[in-house]
Amino acid sequence: MDPVDRAKQEEQLARDVAIQQAKNTIEAAKNNKQYIINGIVYCLYCHELIDKQRLKARPYSTHCIDCKTEIERREHHHGK
Ligand SMILES: [Zn+2]
Repeated sequence: MDPVDRAKQEEQLARDVAIQQAKNTIEAAKNNKQYIINGIVYCLYCHELIDKQRLKARPYSTHCIDCKTEIERREHHHGK
């Protein structure tokens, strides 16, 4: 592939990813249902603290990893 075309393609891809990430953040902020007390985010489901590493990766997390995994597992089952 032409190096110029390749660069353009990569640029486009990076832009798509940035747009998607921005959309996700806006979406999460819009229906922000986080359970926050004194700046600490708790899981909506089990009311345990949400892991800091998780919040760093996903600032709008509403559930801890365990509950999120469980919810996704159930949704997956339900979908079948
Ligand atoms: Zn939880």
